[in-house]
Amino acid sequence: MASLNFATPPKTTDAAEALRQEVRDFLAVELRNRPPVKRAESWSGSDPDFSRKMAARGWIAMTWPKRYGGHERSALERYIVLEEMLAAGAPVGFHWVADRQSGPNILRNGTEAQRQLILPKIAAGECSFCIGMSEPDSGSDLAAARTRAQRVQGGWLVNGTKVWTSSAHRADYMILFCRTGAKSDDDRHAGASQFLVDMQQARGHGMTVRPILDMRGGHHFNEVAIENLLLPDDALLGNEGDGWKQVTAELAFERSGPDRFLSSFTLLIEAVRALGPAAPDRAAIAIGRLTSHTLALRRLSRSVAAMLQAGEDPALQAALVKDLGNVLEQETTEVVRLLIDVEPSEYEGNSDLSSVLAHLVMTAPSFSLRGGTREILRGIIARGLGLR
Ligand SMILES: Cc1cc2nc3c(=O)[nH]c(=O)nc-3n(C[C@H](O)[C@H](O)[C@H](O)COP(=O)(O)OP(=O)(O)OC[C@H]3O[C@@H](n4cnc5c(N)ncnc54)[C@H](O)[C@@H]3O)c2cc1C
Repeated sequence: MASLNFATPPKTTDAAEALRQEVRDFLAVELRNRPPVKRAESWSGSDPDFSRKMAARGWIAMTWPKRYGGHERSALERYIVLEEMLAAGAPVGFHWVADRQSGPNILRNGTEAQRQLILPKIAAGECSFCIGMSEPDSGSDLAAARTRAQRVQGGWLVNGTKVWTSSAHRADYMILFCRTGAKSDDDRHAGASQFLVDMQQARGHGMTVRPILDMRGGHHFNEVAIENLLLPDDALLGNEGDGWKQVTAELAFERSGPDRFLSSFTLLIEAVRALGPAAPDRAAIAIGRLTSHTLALRRLSRSVAAMLQAGEDPALQAALVKDLGNVLEQETTEVVRLLIDVEPSEYEGNSDLSSVLAHLVMTAPSFSLRGGTREILRGIIARGLGLR
């Protein structure tokens, strides 16, 4: 069996802990009126003004080069800002995808012109991204994607359908994954490419974005129909045909951060609050177990951040963090329901615990689907360990 190595996570420093305090002070002011049920939205909660305020503090694009609007801070410092934001339930959704994966993808694969055009806007908290990967017949099996970009005079002509595209109705850009060439007999990942789509130009000019409502009736994701959308030559991101390599590298950024194990953290806080200092032993043990799992995952996730910063490819480790993290996020809802006799309900006037629990009961099932399903992640882990 192959071995699974994690890097030693970086030790914290006085400067990093001073930054943590600075973030906490900022959040104490900015989130003073944010109710727990809104905090429970975690990184799905979006507020462009809040993103701009974070940017003004230098807390977006933290590790990127200064010439692209970044701040050249360490992966550890970035991690501290992310975990404090998530633990507090800050509305980071506007810039989250851009900061987490689209920006790093452009930094790695974009042309100089693409970097200069887009990265400073992300760093300023003024530019949001969506991810155009999944299709009606191609979710887990991304290599089966059928959306096609065909070279024509003056650019690329795109046709196809994307689905579950979070924020496509309001994002400034999409990174679109599609076919540009044929698969080969021995490589079904060949012939794919990524494109940078300016959504303001695309919507209504070959792209139709239709809402899909989630179980709570909320509008987060969409179906995106693309019919003869003309993209300019310079919309190609990276090399033609390198789409698979680029998208799998992007997924390591998508799968390993604290957003993959802190989505239920507001519920844990509300449960501790409701149980109080005289919690029965059974409850204290259960809460202690959830807390120790959170800390273990934090260590693993910080280790993956260190590997990414070192330019390594921790796709296997990232899959493991996401899978274990999603188990914890979903288990939290179940454990709280068993421990505390409370009706999950979002009706006004109900307790914070009741409304946060209701929110999580409705959203937690999606945690092990978004960003790659449990079965797919376990397949990646098994393959990485030489078990299949
Ligand atoms: C909240 C949310 C937000 C999302 N946002 C985006 C987004 O912004 N952009 C985007 O592109 N996509 C997005 N998605 C889509 C997500 O990536 C897909 O739902 C996911 O990849 C699964 O694809 P699918 O829904 O087509 O399910 P399928 O691939 O059809 O899978 C159905 C079931 O079969 C299982 N399965 C499939 N293949 C195998 C296999 N080989 N072995 C074992 N089991 C298998 C799966 O695990 C799953 O349980 C989002 C999804 C959710 C829930």
